[in-house]
Amino acid sequence: MKTKCVLCDRTFTPAPLQEKKLRKHPHRMFLCPECHQRISQQTLDRKSEMDRRKTSCQSSSGPQSG
Ligand SMILES: [Zn+2]
Repeated sequence: MKTKCVLCDRTFTPAPLQEKKLRKHPHRMFLCPECHQRISQQTLDRKSEMDRRKTSCQSSSGPQSG
């Protein structure tokens, strides 16, 4: 079974687990492994950027007094 990637229009063979989902939801959009990796990498980059902003906002606190 083959499916088409929505980003690069390339046909590819989905992983067994992905194929199961495909059969259930044939009209869902799927990405080829390459595009999937690229997207997830972008998501990770954005996440880390947000974390950086969060930590920069926090005021640095001294060591805990025990
Ligand atoms: Zn693709």
